[in-house]
Amino acid sequence: MAGRAKAGPYALPAMLRDIERVLIDRERIAARVREIAAAMSADFARDTAHLPEPERDGRIVLMPVLTGSIVFVADLIRHLPHKLSLGLVAVSSYPGKSVESKGVSIRGELPGDLEGKHVVIIDDILDSGQTLDVLSRLVRERRPASVRLCVLLRKPGKAKLDVRPDYVGFDIPDEFVVGYGLDYDGFYRNHPEIVTLRPEAR
Ligand code: 5GP
Ligand code: MG
Repeated sequence: MAGRAKAGPYALPAMLRDIERVLIDRERIAARVREIAAAMSADFARDTAHLPEPERDGRIVLMPVLTGSIVFVADLIRHLPHKLSLGLVAVSSYPGKSVESKGVSIRGELPGDLEGKHVVIIDDILDSGQTLDVLSRLVRERRPASVRLCVLLRKPGKAKLDVRPDYVGFDIPDEFVVGYGLDYDGFYRNHPEIVTLRPEAR
């Protein structure tokens, strides 16, 4: 069981003790990240196919939503052989507030100069859709050439808002997960797999 997780190169006993079960292991994550990168690459090629060669480069801005998406993005960008830039964005959410009261706000500024760019907003998980709804509206105000949404995980049926990601890593059941960037109370982001926590750890 969870407390007896095998020691390995990633073994951090104190953290592993809290793991209930592995939902998605390293191999599946790695394979899916490659597939998403391939799909994105094909879309980028299509986006810029009409432009003369010298103008095709430098138009892609990946916008990771901090902090949960950092591990995913770090893996993803190494499979994207494009001339692209990163524009990090931090959001604060206020759980419990209704969608109408806009429970999500941007901390600081949006990355500058998105006009004419192909922007891909990248988040760890799509739950209610609030984060991506608010963020994609704000990005669209900057007149980008396109806005796409990419999430590692999606909890199906929960999104009340009309948020349709262009790239989805995995559909998962409505359970609280951590690892591969996702946290509980700031911890477990460094766990290399997507896992659930034992009730005692929460
Ligand atoms: P949404 O704005 O779509 O309701 O929620 C997205 C955010 O909620 C995610 O970026 C993440 O911070 C948090 N979240 C939702 N479900 C989970 C989960 O199962 N595990 C973790 N660690 N965070 C979650
Ligand atoms: Mg988040």
